[in-house]
Amino acid sequence: MRLGLDVGGTKTDAVAVAPDGAIVARTRLATGWGPDAVVQTILAAVSGLCADPALATADIRSVGIGIPGRIEPGSGRVEHAVNLGVETLDLAAAVAPALGVPVRVENDVKAAALGAASLRGGTQSMGYLNLGTGMAAAVVTDGVLWRGARGGAGEIGHLSIDPAGPVCRCGQRGCIEALAGGGAVSARWGKPGALPIRDIFDAADAGDAAAVRLRTDLARGVAAAIRVLVLTADVDTVVLGGGITALGTRLEAQVAAQLETSAHESAFLRSLQLVDRVEILPVGAPAAALGAALIGAEAADEREVLSHG
Ligand SMILES: [Zn+2]
Repeated sequence: MRLGLDVGGTKTDAVAVAPDGAIVARTRLATGWGPDAVVQTILAAVSGLCADPALATADIRSVGIGIPGRIEPGSGRVEHAVNLGVETLDLAAAVAPALGVPVRVENDVKAAALGAASLRGGTQSMGYLNLGTGMAAAVVTDGVLWRGARGGAGEIGHLSIDPAGPVCRCGQRGCIEALAGGGAVSARWGKPGALPIRDIFDAADAGDAAAVRLRTDLARGVAAAIRVLVLTADVDTVVLGGGITALGTRLEAQVAAQLETSAHESAFLRSLQLVDRVEILPVGAPAAALGAALIGAEAADEREVLSHG
């Protein structure tokens, strides 16, 4: 049995994956704030899974952890996980002694990409675009995650597409994330509410000019990210995931309209058939936790290769 955890800013999602890839147990709990509380959350999630009757006689082979922030390739160290109150934390070293199995740590969006590819099945290349508080992407080809030289592949949220656009938290102007990241869009909206992006879509439907502008910018940013993924990696499909995709067809229609606008004047862009290549990850699918389990399993496999020479 391989365990996978998706440690998010508010909740942690954990799954147990059988050797055939089936998810046999799942648990969710609130994520604590700060390094010590994050470690305790992870240990509690693993205990919660192990208490499931489905795991009563199971042998735990590995634990994989998906977490926001920068992960140096090959290390278990997390940096700049601001949504968790973590500046720097050697997460693998902090949890491995208590767990007693190989632990691997990966950026949550990269883990979600691998999990989404596994849930879809097949070996087609796939771009995964995470529409959450921030915005980032990852690419999976032939079932393998593209990490880049320093683990930074896919940070397309900080491509500037509008030199006159809003200032981004990274310091540039008009980044894709400044136009379409949930945090940036909510800040520009400036009104309280539990689901500000939904509020913006509702207000735009009712004719509010400021909301229409924000909704158009959001769709423009998502459409730009889709073009970047297809034009750089020629992925067959771009899968949209993350909290904003709960808007479903309302989001899809806005993004499709922006893709069609950009293709209107360009036979080249039309030939890419971008609208047909976009899918939304089913709401509630445990893509990141599943992907983390698959990444953890790589660590267990490598250890076996080493021990058997
Ligand atoms: Zn930026």
